[in-house]
Amino acid sequence: MVEYDGERITAEEADRRYQGVSRTYLYGLDDGKTVIDGHGLGAYLNHSCDPNCEVDEIKGRVWLFAIRDIAAEEELVWDYNLYDDDDPAPCHCRSLKCRGTMYSREWMAKMRRREARKKKQKSAVARRRNSTRKTNPAAKRRPLRESEVVP
Ligand SMILES: [Zn+2]
Repeated sequence: MVEYDGERITAEEADRRYQGVSRTYLYGLDDGKTVIDGHGLGAYLNHSCDPNCEVDEIKGRVWLFAIRDIAAEEELVWDYNLYDDDDPAPCHCRSLKCRGTMYSREWMAKMRRREARKKKQKSAVARRRNSTRKTNPAAKRRPLRESEVVP
């Protein structure tokens, strides 16, 4: 239907080109290495959590297909399923199915797991600190034995 077309670049080149840029039109191909730096109609379609189009990669080319009947004048939208970034990408598509972000469910689950791991590490550090605080005063109160005094 509509091709998501653009220059083919590597993921590294995409990172270099768009470091710190919030609005990009990048599409990562299934090979995990190639990124389309999109331009044209396909790249400029908006996101929706309840889309009427779907993206499909066929032999290295990316196409947007209608997944249901689309009324005349209805906006063409597809689910971006963003990944590979930490910056918030809030969704305001207003559909009943809106998940509040343009990131994919898989990526959000991965981010939640990463957050949980970070929190766990932090609380482990806090616990260690607390236990030091509790045991130190007692250790100070106990007088040193002669054998413990370093000459
Ligand atoms: Zn949404």
